[in-house]
Amino acid sequence: DDMDVSTIWMNGEYVDWDDAQIHVLSHGLHYGTGIFEGVRAYDTDRGPAIFRWEEHLERLYNSAKPYNMDIGYTPEELTEATIEVIKRNDLDGCYIRPIAYYGYDSLGVSPQDNPTDIAIAAWPWGTYLGEDALENGVDVMVSSWRKHASSQIPTNAKTTGLYVNSLLAGEEARRNGYVEAIVLNKEGNVAEGPGENLFMVRDGKILTPGLSQSILDGITRDTVITLARERGYEVDDSAVISRGELHTADELFFTGSAAEVTPIRKVDNVVIGEGTRGPVTEELQTAFFDLVERRTDDHEEWFTYVDEQ
Ligand code: PMP
Repeated sequence: DDMDVSTIWMNGEYVDWDDAQIHVLSHGLHYGTGIFEGVRAYDTDRGPAIFRWEEHLERLYNSAKPYNMDIGYTPEELTEATIEVIKRNDLDGCYIRPIAYYGYDSLGVSPQDNPTDIAIAAWPWGTYLGEDALENGVDVMVSSWRKHASSQIPTNAKTTGLYVNSLLAGEEARRNGYVEAIVLNKEGNVAEGPGENLFMVRDGKILTPGLSQSILDGITRDTVITLARERGYEVDDSAVISRGELHTADELFFTGSAAEVTPIRKVDNVVIGEGTRGPVTEELQTAFFDLVERRTDDHEEWFTYVDEQ
């Protein structure tokens, strides 16, 4: 029985965690030519429920397009592999990481001879930005690094190579004693976090940078926009937010599959609002966790129940 063996799906096969290895001359390692997803499954009354799997899959296939990458498996095959990985590893709540990348053959930048390799792994992953981040919020700094412009690298494709920018911004922040960064785009307007979208509350209205601001089209961003509108909030989802507006915001928060809904209490040591999780953030955060942990019947269409597949 391999139920207690950690299993990763790789190129059509279920392999042991320790055997899920690649050649050191793989194209993706040298040139950052991987595309990937970060997805959460939540522990619910009906067993593990993958949140917005369809949308994550769609983004995965879209991320492959600018790189002319053929994923080589159908969405149905990737869904089946993911369900099986969760079952074989006996996971309940977990983080799911599908990745496709140009593999090993030649090392020219052109990947014409390289295969597309693909893997899906899953493991338990707690709060992304620390234990008390969800309740008390995080202190962030505006990074001195700018985000790559969407005219330089497609920022709507979730590409491995993009994350060197995320690392630079995030580690700069952490070296300076902050938990996370906010990254401005090339125009100097607010884009997003290294692995999160950003929301601002001002005078009861909710704003978030638009897709033209060189951001990833976050699935949690879309979820929170939907939840906010359902609760009667006016949401501007194509906002252009200047750096100075961060400081005068009533509330700020991050969203992401890993970060979920995380309040921001200070930016560059300037206290935001009351310096605690604000009321709108709390309302939306509660709505988010009630949704994903299935304490409501809302949006059944967003859930894939592993045990029922
Ligand atoms: N922006 C970036 C750069 C990210 O890496 C992520 C995490 N995938 C997000 C935003 C949030 O996207 P999502 O809500 O789809 O996880």
